Amino acid sequence: MNEEAIQGLKPERVWHFFREISAIPRGSKNEKAVLEYIKKTATSMGLKSKQDKVGNVVVFKPASLGKEGSPVVVLQVHTDMVCEKNREVRHDFLKDGIKFHREGDFLKADGTTLGSDDGIGVASLLSLLEDKSLVHGPIEGLFTIDEETGLTGANHVEPGFITGSVMMNLDSEDEGVLYIGCAGGLDTTMTVPVKRKAVTGKVVSLKIMIRGLKGGHSGVDIHLGRANALKLMTRTLLELDRKVKMKLVSLEGGSKHNAIPREAEATIVVPQAEEAKVTEVAADCEKIFKNAFNSIEPDVKVVVEKGRKAKQAFDDKSKTAVLDFLNGIPHGVIRMSSDIPDLVETSTNLAVMKTAAAGVTVVTSQRSSIESEKEMIASVVASVGKLAGAKIKPSDGYPGWQPNVNSSVLAKAKDVYSTLYGKEPEVKAIHAGLECGIINDRVGGGVDTISFGPTIIGPHSPDERVDVGSVDKFYRFLIEMVKAVA
Ligand SMILES: [Zn+2]
Repeated sequence: MNEEAIQGLKPERVWHFFREISAIPRGSKNEKAVLEYIKKTATSMGLKSKQDKVGNVVVFKPASLGKEGSPVVVLQVHTDMVCEKNREVRHDFLKDGIKFHREGDFLKADGTTLGSDDGIGVASLLSLLEDKSLVHGPIEGLFTIDEETGLTGANHVEPGFITGSVMMNLDSEDEGVLYIGCAGGLDTTMTVPVKRKAVTGKVVSLKIMIRGLKGGHSGVDIHLGRANALKLMTRTLLELDRKVKMKLVSLEGGSKHNAIPREAEATIVVPQAEEAKVTEVAADCEKIFKNAFNSIEPDVKVVVEKGRKAKQAFDDKSKTAVLDFLNGIPHGVIRMSSDIPDLVETSTNLAVMKTAAAGVTVVTSQRSSIESEKEMIASVVASVGKLAGAKIKPSDGYPGWQPNVNSSVLAKAKDVYSTLYGKEPEVKAIHAGLECGIINDRVGGGVDTISFGPTIIGPHSPDERVDVGSVDKFYRFLIEMVKAVA
């Protein structure tokens, strides 16, 4: 199946390595096996490597003959991948390899994330390290861990672990675009305490579900106006609360701080006589959402099912506090950049909600390319929490990567790209967090940095697919860049 999917694709060794690493489960915080594979592969290529305490690996490829005095170049990729699947798909991300197939010009997984983010980067770096025909200066191939759920690897790179003065990050997602800056981010986690009361009388438990949304990456897709399942759930519950005698039992939804939530569930209790009314209100809400999100979320569904019998539910005061809290939390783009066209400057993602004994916890995630605005939006979100009496826990966050339009590696990259493909590359900053900002910070700054990659659509969701032609173009550009810097 996988073998067939990559048959005839170029560059052959990149796809070979992609197939190999796809067979190794490598969700975030589960990178041990893939790192062993990388070290073993480096050894078999006759290359030295070293590993730090958290697991990051650097592989050293000495300069080709006569290029020993060239600048040391760091090529950087992350080894982990986001694990998301469609509900009906059976897949154990701890045990099963990723299965994929061709769809026209794209490679796509069978109902799971593909891991082309950043698996193509990993495979390309391995292929480049293997290539003995290349003209190049000293190369440090840096493979980091856990980019997707905390940038842990980047945050723990020790000064001196890498020594390069030029860094190329291979983890962006538009072929033909050079990235020169990214957003910083932080998470704000808040718990609203709830009081519960015993459920009495002739009642029925119902499960309300929001389904069929597209989701996506909170850095890459936040400006697309996709619906947030947690927000739609809140609207549905507020509507129900106006129309029936509803008790709230639990709320769940979303899975990752950096994913726009696709699904949400709530359990409610209503008088038996009002069960039909709930179905009616849910259908009305579905219509309203279909109309409002129109072509963007054509498959949105509000589903009602019989729920598990509940012994306890939130008291009315807690119910109101929780719903107002969820309704008040901002979500989406806060401001676009006035300097760089189409760049989202500041945004916030209402990412996860969970119910536990202590109350309802939400995870939200803020981003901005401007440090002060990152702090501003985090404080807005926290204020909503304060009004609801929530316990608030901000994370430390990570710094952004300030664009430098006078970078010399950028000038080289523009030249190389135009010569190779006969057109100017675009130069952009990205709203997602890239590791290069942090790594630069960790090693004392001043590393001339650029980021580029193949075209990946829908990363972090089961719709993820990589444009196979763009992988070839990306890889040829990478090879030429390594030559040009030497
Ligand atoms: Zn990535």
